[in-house]
Amino acid sequence: MSQPNTLRSRLPDVGTSIFTVMSAMARAHGAVNLAQGFPDFDCDEGLQDLVHHYMRKGYNQYAPMAGVPALREAIARKIEATQGVAVDPDAEITVTAGATEALFVAISAVVHPGDEVIILEPAYDSYAPVVRLNGGRVVPVGLRPPAYRVDWGEVAAVCTPRTRLIIVNNPHNPTGQIFAEADLMALEELAERHDLWVLSDEVYEHIVFDGQRHHSVLSRPRLRQRSFAAFSFGKTYHNTGWKMGYCVASPSLTEEFRKIHQFVVFSVHTPVQHALATWLEKAEHWESLAPFFQKKRDLLQQALADTPLRPLPCAGTYFQLYDYSAASDLPDVEFVRWLATEKGVATIPVSPFYSDGYDARVVRICFAKKEDTLREAAALLRRAFAPEKG
Ligand code: PMP
Ligand code: GLN
Repeated sequence: MSQPNTLRSRLPDVGTSIFTVMSAMARAHGAVNLAQGFPDFDCDEGLQDLVHHYMRKGYNQYAPMAGVPALREAIARKIEATQGVAVDPDAEITVTAGATEALFVAISAVVHPGDEVIILEPAYDSYAPVVRLNGGRVVPVGLRPPAYRVDWGEVAAVCTPRTRLIIVNNPHNPTGQIFAEADLMALEELAERHDLWVLSDEVYEHIVFDGQRHHSVLSRPRLRQRSFAAFSFGKTYHNTGWKMGYCVASPSLTEEFRKIHQFVVFSVHTPVQHALATWLEKAEHWESLAPFFQKKRDLLQQALADTPLRPLPCAGTYFQLYDYSAASDLPDVEFVRWLATEKGVATIPVSPFYSDGYDARVVRICFAKKEDTLREAAALLRRAFAPEKG
C-alpha cells in the first residue's frame, strides 16, 4: 500500500497564536487571564433571550447568503447614526462569521499572486497569513512606542507599482491608538495616488475614550469607494464566542466579496442574526460601551500607579500597553512567561505582533474584565514588583 506524501505546508513558519498560547499558560498555572482579548463577564441576558426566542419561532434554516435583511438594515441605520453616512444594506453590507472571516474574504478578493500588501506593525495576527495564502507579499511598516503614530511619508516610501492593498486597524490592537481625521485624509491621499485598496479593521469602533470620536473609512466618500471595513459584534456585545461580524464595502467590492464569502461559509447563524437585528434597535447599548470600558481602564491604571509598570497612552480598544523596562531586562516573551507562571497574571507580549520580533519591553493587558478580576490582578502585580524588604 502506498503511503501518502508528507504534506507541504502552505504556512510552514506559522505556529499557534500568542493568544492561544497565553490562555493555555494561564489555565495551566491558574493565573488571572488578562491576556487574550475577551470579557470575563457574560453578554446581556436580554440578547440571549432573543436568540432563544427566534430559535423557538423556527428561524433555524439557512439565512440569505448576504445576511438576514432586517440585520443589514439595522446595521445601515447604526452607521447612519454613528458616522452620518447612508449605506445600502442590500448592495454594501455582508454579514460574516466574525470580523476574522470578513478580513479573510476581503484580502482574498483583492490580492493576486505577486501583489504587495502594506501592513502596519504591531499588527493583529490574522492579516499576514491570509495575504501569503493568496500569493501576496507582506510589506511591513513599523510603528514605534510610545505613541505608535503612523508616519504616512514612510508608508508612501514603500509603495511600488505592485502595491495593491493597505491594511489598517483603527482603533488599534494592541496599542490602543486611534486615527485622527488627518490620518484618514493621509490614507485617502495615499490610496488615490498609488491606486490602492484599503482594508480597515474597525472592530473596536465603539470603544474610544476621553470624549474622542472614531473616524471610520466609511465617513469619507472617496476613501469609502476603495475600502472594505470589517466589524465585529463580539466586541460590541461581549460575546466573542458567537463569531458574528460584517463587512461594509462599495457595491462592486461587495459583489467580489460575496463571490468568496458564499464558498467560505455561505451564510451565518440565522437566529443570532435575527436577535442582533432586534438588539441593534437600542442605541444605548453601543453608546454606553466607551464609558463602561473607560472606567475599567482607569481602575487598572490607578491600581498599578505605584508599580514600575508605565502605561502608554491608550485612546481606545480594551487593551492597555505597559512599558516594563524599569522593572526587568527580560525580553517580552520571557517576561510574560515569568509573570504568568511565577506571579499569577497572564498578559500578552507585543513582539509577536512584529514580523521582525521588535521588542520595546512592552506588554498588553486586556481590561475587559470584572472589576474584582482587575483588582485581584493588580494586587498580584503590585506584590510581584514590591521592593524587597530587609
Ligand atoms: N481584528 C482585531 C483587531 C481583533 O482584535 C479581533 C479580535 N477578536 C478580530 C479582528 C477578530 O474579530 P472576531 O472575533 O469578530 O472574528
Ligand atoms: N482579538 C483577540 C486578542 O487580540 C484574540 C482573538 C483570538 O484569540 N484569535 O486578544
